Amino acid sequence: MARRTFLGTLRLAILLAVLAFVALGAWLDRRRSTDWDAPLRVTVYPIAAADDAATRGHVAALAQQDFADVEAFFAEEADRHGLALREPVRVRVSHAAALPPQPPGDTGMLGVVTWSLRFRYWAWRVAMDDPLPTPDVQVFALYHPADGGTAVPDSLGLSKGLMAITHLYADPAAAGSNQVVVAHELLHTLGATDKYQRASGQPLVPEGLGDPDQVPRYPQRYGEIMAGRIALGAQEATIPDGLGRMLVGPVTARQIGWLQ
Ligand SMILES: [Zn+2]
Repeated sequence: MARRTFLGTLRLAILLAVLAFVALGAWLDRRRSTDWDAPLRVTVYPIAAADDAATRGHVAALAQQDFADVEAFFAEEADRHGLALREPVRVRVSHAAALPPQPPGDTGMLGVVTWSLRFRYWAWRVAMDDPLPTPDVQVFALYHPADGGTAVPDSLGLSKGLMAITHLYADPAAAGSNQVVVAHELLHTLGATDKYQRASGQPLVPEGLGDPDQVPRYPQRYGEIMAGRIALGAQEATIPDGLGRMLVGPVTARQIGWLQ
């Protein structure tokens, strides 16, 4: 009995030591990634989340130019906030990844911690096996059939670890909104927080609005990228059809190191 307790304690101590080590590494990576003295190198890995021919075909055809809007969005917004770096984000596309380990169904602490370590290890292996140089941020873009029959899971940007899993639709009509999701999750990896109400999805006031000082306030012409939607009224918001209608607000800009 005493021996088992000792082993249990030892296992917990090792797990905590691994976590402390991972957390320190993530902190150092984050510091390096938000100093903005060189372009942030992002690799997007398009992955088919379903086995049908349409989804696989859509994913196989995705290339660099399909994410050009993300690069342009970061360049424009960084410039608007006075950042000297002309090209803050450089996106490459790699087809070197298969499906990542699935997150646990229930959200028990130990299950989540174990999954996040497995996911990190898996992501590290993907980068090692990829002929492309190891990026600063990895975005695993899972594409689902666009039949509208199934709701896709929530996308996930690990705020400690410079990697994200995004759930997107394999449909040319969704290309614009897919880029909004990629930019949003990419910003999470750099330390940006959500700016919408959890329960309703409604953008927070003022930090979730494109222009809180607009008169009249609604409908907003632009949305804040971490709000994910454009507020049409105090209780009404719409999903944008592309990054052209989204902005990086001052709170997000501060969180990612663009403003002091
Ligand atoms: Zn979010």
